[in-house]
Amino acid sequence: MNRKEKVASLSLFLTSLYPETECFLHSSSEYGFLIAVILSAQARDKVVNQITPLLFKAYPSLQDLADANEKDILRIIKPVGLGPSKAHNILLLAKTLVQDYQGKVPHEREVLQTLPGVGHKTAGVFLGERDDAPFIPVDTHVSRIAKRLRIVPLKAEPDEIEAILEANYQGGNKMNFHRQMILFGRNLCLASDKRLCEQCPLSFCQERLKDFKE
Ligand code: SF4
Repeated sequence: MNRKEKVASLSLFLTSLYPETECFLHSSSEYGFLIAVILSAQARDKVVNQITPLLFKAYPSLQDLADANEKDILRIIKPVGLGPSKAHNILLLAKTLVQDYQGKVPHEREVLQTLPGVGHKTAGVFLGERDDAPFIPVDTHVSRIAKRLRIVPLKAEPDEIEAILEANYQGGNKMNFHRQMILFGRNLCLASDKRLCEQCPLSFCQERLKDFKE
């Protein structure tokens, strides 16, 4: 099978499992959503969705957040993990948006990626969810699945994985495909030997073939 055929098979199966997906993170404002995405790095979305209302209750406006004390932000966001660096970046981000962007979040990926705490994936998730931008941001689940299915080389970096997936996905909603892959990674195609291959029809999967050889 070529890449396009593999991606099409994966998409078909995932759509049968998860016909409709929704953004995993809750937020009422643009900067609030960007902060939620930053907080979600190596964290569970459920915990992030519990923490962000507390953060924005303590700091109702972006200016309030920009004027905050870093230690106070850290105290609120600590349960999500990586608290010190996230608190530092959130404060810097709020200051930068207030000082340099009139309190608005820029919508160009290259510009977004220059903001504190915002990398390629975070910018992709923000634009995909807010603007329906045609991106397939790569997290640990997306990377693992794409490699197991040999859609991408085993040593591919996230930027390369994203480019390959975006070039070969023929469906109409790339962010939906991104969310479907994450759900698949969380529920079936789990890391290590916990994966539930017996429930997966993707017979071309190299990880499944390995099991057969063992
Ligand atoms: S066969 Fe197993 S490892 Fe391969 S994609 Fe399906 S669940 Fe993942």
